[in-house]
Amino acid sequence: MNSEDIEKYSAKLSKLSLEIEDYLKKSEDSASAVEPDNALGRLSRMEAMQDQQMVLELRRRKKRQLLDVENAIKRIEQESFGSCMFCGQSISPDRLDAFPEVQTCVNCA
Ligand SMILES: [Zn+2]
Repeated sequence: MNSEDIEKYSAKLSKLSLEIEDYLKKSEDSASAVEPDNALGRLSRMEAMQDQQMVLELRRRKKRQLLDVENAIKRIEQESFGSCMFCGQSISPDRLDAFPEVQTCVNCA
């Protein structure tokens, strides 16, 4: 991978990590427990709890993605970025463009 590509993916990854951190910060409130004594009716309370579950699930996924992004940034520093961690083949540029944090090629995913 040439230095231009490395720079492109490095920029993408830092942007992605900022976006995820931003999301995690903003969603902190909606992820906290639904207060038992709030003024919501029973139905809207259930909805609020379902929403909360969705936010929690999304936050879990985003946290995992953030770890992958941080790993990918490390892999850029170690100059192993862009190769599959299992078979060592180059990961296709299409795949990296869509998910710069992936660590495996299509075959090993
Ligand atoms: Zn592979």
